[in-house]
Amino acid sequence: MSVNLTVAKFGGTSVANYQAMLRCANIIKSDNTNRLVIVSASAGVTNHLVRLSQKNVPEAERLSIIASIKKIQLSITKYLVNEQNLNIDIDILLSELMAYANAQALNYSLRITDAILSFGEQLSSLIFTQVLNSIGLNGECFDVRRVMKTNSVHGKATVDIKSLKRNAQHLLQPKLEKKVIVTQGFIGQDDNDYTTTLGRGGSDYTAALLAEALDAKNLSIWTDVVGIFTTDPRITEQARAIKEISFGEAAEMATFGAKILHPATLIPAMRKNIPVFVGSSKEPEKGGTRIQKEVATSPTYRSIALRREQTLVTVKSPEMLHASGFLAKVFAVLAKHELSVDLITTSEISVALTFDNPLGSTQALITQAVVEELEQLCEVSVEHGLSLVAVIGNKIHATNGVSSNIFEKVGEFNIRMICHGASSHNLCFLVPEQDANRVVEKLHDSLFT
Ligand code: ADP
Ligand code: ASP
Ligand code: MG
Repeated sequence: MSVNLTVAKFGGTSVANYQAMLRCANIIKSDNTNRLVIVSASAGVTNHLVRLSQKNVPEAERLSIIASIKKIQLSITKYLVNEQNLNIDIDILLSELMAYANAQALNYSLRITDAILSFGEQLSSLIFTQVLNSIGLNGECFDVRRVMKTNSVHGKATVDIKSLKRNAQHLLQPKLEKKVIVTQGFIGQDDNDYTTTLGRGGSDYTAALLAEALDAKNLSIWTDVVGIFTTDPRITEQARAIKEISFGEAAEMATFGAKILHPATLIPAMRKNIPVFVGSSKEPEKGGTRIQKEVATSPTYRSIALRREQTLVTVKSPEMLHASGFLAKVFAVLAKHELSVDLITTSEISVALTFDNPLGSTQALITQAVVEELEQLCEVSVEHGLSLVAVIGNKIHATNGVSSNIFEKVGEFNIRMICHGASSHNLCFLVPEQDANRVVEKLHDSLFT
């Protein structure tokens, strides 16, 4: 069975309404290797849930958010013959959601936040299963939390890969022979049976992990664009779809903010050498991008990624001059607060470090406590409002003329920090948020058109 398994993942816009879900169901039907389906929440639902999970949401707003979610979901079920039964199940889930929202208002916790966020995928998977059945497929909804065991880091849980493999082969594999299984992206469960989440956009990662666990032959990520583009097509109309890209390049794109893939998605696919297809569920006939180990071309410039909301921390101390151990102390503070540094540049007496603000995060990343601890060692300044531009390609560190090709075009902007040389696949720099789109547009014009 596993030799022919394709794992298919549909993102939020692909399951946003009935017509979109029906298109996805027909994609599943068109290829009988599509046996395991991972769905995201219907578009907009997770954002409603994020608001619902915040502190002190007034009761009237809680009710109105749940009513909005119900409206989105019922606008889909009304097309299905078993609408009534389905709506009963939806009501059960929504009353459970209301109970969590009320509990959150009384006593806020990250544990309840994750419980609340999980309802989008719970609802969409339930409904999508019935859409599959309505076109004659034998669909079954499976609760992914039975196999996706994680640690208890709510909002960014780490999956136990070994137990996932064991559980998936034991609980999921036998079902795949007879049925098309629909399950939830993004969510998991810790040892205490509390629901966890893998981070915003995490359904791509769920799909890749399940593809790995079940030795799938292919992973298809169905979204709202016809593949991976040379840059975000929302930034410039000049962006064009890439037919074929290597794992390494695509992983760099995801890491550096190309929202098309969750940053961790390609790690399981690379471990098992599972080719990944990215295409549009709206226009499946247009094909898409194939991500694989070996590709025919390795151009110097493949794409440009943009990651917004970066924080730049500069630490400065005259003691750094000719001294050793200063950086170790700085990093010890960061490690203690579980902060992961992205880019780093140093001068004789100062070090500049960048940190990513995870998508949708509402908390200040560099807290007062971190600043105070660093201030015991050095002068500290924290800057916000910056975007990270990454030019991604091949042998970027060893190709003549790369920096002039890039920086000549964006000379009119304030380049706040540059990182070049550590990776053969990218050159990155920080620019003020308000210039970011224009920088990408200009650069794209000169490198790709
Ligand atoms: P889904 O809900 O299907 O997971 P996402 O919104 O998370 O979809 O990701 C798809 C979006 O990613 C596209 O609509 C596009 O705007 C954005 N995107 C960013 N960078 C790229 C890129 N290089 N190529 C294609 N899309 C990109
Ligand atoms: N629904 C979640 C989100 O919006 C996960 C996903 O779509 O991948 O972030
Ligand atoms: Mg996504």
